[in-house]
Amino acid sequence: MNQTKTLKIRGMHCASCASIIEKTLKKIGGVESAQANYGNETLKVCFDETKTNCDELSQKIEPFGYSLIIPTAKDMNMSESEHSAHLGINQSKQEKLSELKDMRNKIYSIIPLAIISIFIMAWDISAQLKVLPEMTVFWKEFFHHLLPVMATYALFVVGKPYLLGVYRFLRYGKANMDTLIGIGTSVAFLYSFIVGAFEESLKQFINVENVYFDVVIVVIAFIALGKYLEARSKLKTGDAIEKLLDLQAKTALVVRGGKEIEIPIGEVVHGDIIVIKPAGKIPVDGIILDGSSFVDESMISGEPIPVEKKSGDTVVAGTINTSGSFTFKATKVGSETLLANIVRMVEEAQGSKAPIQALADKISGIFVPIVLVLAFVSLVSWLIIGTNYLGFSQALSLGLVSFVGILVIACPCALGLATPTAIIVGVGKGAREGILIKDAGTLEKLHKVNVVVVDKTGTLTHGKPELVSVQNFSNKTDAEIISILATLENKSEHPIAHAVVSYAKENKINLSTVNNFEAVKGKGLKGNIDGILYYAGNVKLVQELNLSFDVKLIEKETLKGKTPVILATSEKILAIVMVADAVKPEAISAIADLHKLGIKVVMLTGDDKNTAKHIAEKVGIDEVVAEVMPEDKLNKIKELQSQGKIVAMAGDGVNDAPALAQADVGIAMATGTDVAIESAGITLLHGDISKLVKAINLSKMTMRGIKQNLFWAFIYNIVGIPLAGGLFFPFFGWVLNPVFAGLAMAFSSVSVVGNSLRIKVKKL
Ligand code: ADP
Ligand code: MG
Repeated sequence: MNQTKTLKIRGMHCASCASIIEKTLKKIGGVESAQANYGNETLKVCFDETKTNCDELSQKIEPFGYSLIIPTAKDMNMSESEHSAHLGINQSKQEKLSELKDMRNKIYSIIPLAIISIFIMAWDISAQLKVLPEMTVFWKEFFHHLLPVMATYALFVVGKPYLLGVYRFLRYGKANMDTLIGIGTSVAFLYSFIVGAFEESLKQFINVENVYFDVVIVVIAFIALGKYLEARSKLKTGDAIEKLLDLQAKTALVVRGGKEIEIPIGEVVHGDIIVIKPAGKIPVDGIILDGSSFVDESMISGEPIPVEKKSGDTVVAGTINTSGSFTFKATKVGSETLLANIVRMVEEAQGSKAPIQALADKISGIFVPIVLVLAFVSLVSWLIIGTNYLGFSQALSLGLVSFVGILVIACPCALGLATPTAIIVGVGKGAREGILIKDAGTLEKLHKVNVVVVDKTGTLTHGKPELVSVQNFSNKTDAEIISILATLENKSEHPIAHAVVSYAKENKINLSTVNNFEAVKGKGLKGNIDGILYYAGNVKLVQELNLSFDVKLIEKETLKGKTPVILATSEKILAIVMVADAVKPEAISAIADLHKLGIKVVMLTGDDKNTAKHIAEKVGIDEVVAEVMPEDKLNKIKELQSQGKIVAMAGDGVNDAPALAQADVGIAMATGTDVAIESAGITLLHGDISKLVKAINLSKMTMRGIKQNLFWAFIYNIVGIPLAGGLFFPFFGWVLNPVFAGLAMAFSSVSVVGNSLRIKVKKL
């Protein structure tokens, strides 16, 4: 049996780590697919349980300096809060924090050394430019002995991860960013050490003044500082999940054996009666039995105004009661709650790869070996070509400077961070606004959408129609008519059905029983009551029965946006009932906003033409396709796509599932606790269409961030490598000092992560 797991990875230092891990795992028998993500340091792996297991996977990558954080069996016995530990979030966060502390301590120790080195370098240069006098012989000698000691500490203590990178390269032939830095700094160190040790005998061949201990110290200091700042901000990119987990209550007040007792959240079971006091947190999902209140659901839906809840309404875990109090029955607990689903979805989306990342991945996969080759080519070129013009001694020192410079500046880490960090922040920001994104690919596609297709009922209108009038053509009483209709509708899930049934209930009209009930797709329904076959539905249904029907009977009402429900037998029309569904006020401004973004809006509905037109005019829709059968909705989307349009479809996710799946981006408008996560790429909580505009803005913002990131990541390398290699030396006399290479490299990843974090504070 194949199973898919998302696990945290320890020891990732750059994007090429991701490709090393992926390549290694894919070679193991039984592994179907493996996706490592440097952004949130997770692995999504699919493998055959009978052939391999997580422990083996972890062992296989251990020689290269990585391991998997594998949840223990104890954690698997989970409630939601434990579940998060099972996903490795809390655990790895603790680890990350202590790793960060360790990094910080090393930074504190190396910064003073770097400052001393920079001071000496600056003095040297100033003396050469005759700005300052030469250092006295005493100080020269002093630093001459001090620098090697400091460099030894820098390389062997602070730079240990880089040395390990060199070791793994020599032993297993795998190279990552640590390898590049490690080779660069250790070559500089080794050269300086040899020159220092054999100063007298080497004097005649080379300039023994040129040693690079200071470079080793400063480069390692900058890289370590960059890595530390990067790790710190990276932790911030993923804090959306943590904030969601914090919403989870730890305990619940349940009624058991007639008494209210407080129990840990993990012990709440289906059907438990839970008591909510004023200002209490809702611990699990459920339905209110008794009492009423306003509940603040902003943490989940992004809606700032508390929602009124009374008996029969649903409440969800993680939301907060205001001043009333009520009891409710638990219907979803543990990992079934909406909150748990959101957390899982956010986590998976954050770990998924956007198509735009493919290029960066490809490049970072081959980048390290190419850079190694480039660095050697540059060193050799200096020695061969440079010696002719500058003499061996100077060519060697410039060659070494180039060699180290190229290795240091050409680190693929900004490249690897460019996409995932922006995706992590974007997906997390969405979740806080009630915009649930299934994967990075969806977020990427959304910004290109130019047609939005919307369903009328529930998307543009409230989706809670009310029965407004009854035209009776039979010899039955109105109450009898309603009773028959409501008996039929009682079996249906359509919003119209709810309108009829609740009208019957409110007016205390009794329902009878129906036999051979059948829904007539796109038209209505039919069923047998007391031996008579009744039909109820739209004009199409009546036409199917070949009953003569005068449209004038309904035209006046449908032109005002009401929907007709015709009750008939196979012989005659008995009555026409009108239901009306109010337009959501936010729909009007949302459609206007979509237009401002240059997006065309098409309305698709199975409802009456006139009704649809009326609503469309009210909200300002461009194109209406009414009286369509469910499969036509799908075809309309295909038609738009064949015209080269990128189509997003927003619907209720239940009967619109095929259309949602066909659209480039399927957007489910969720109500209550039902999250149609499977069929849609994006789920908008609380069925609010104005969130669609926000979602598109979020997508645009994220993509812009990614493109900026990629640009900067590439530019550093495109400019940095030739500069460091000395390509400009013959023309301008420029060679990039490795110290600046270190600075640039540190700056590049920090700026990429910083740029991604900006998305968090921008307004949607
Ligand atoms: P939509 O979701 O756009 O209304 P449907 O295919 O669900 O599309 O329904 C198409 C039309 O069929 C409805 O607009 C309504 O006129 C009629 N219909 C469907 N179900 C019912 C029902 N339970 N009672 C009355 N009419 C119905
Ligand atoms: Mg529908």
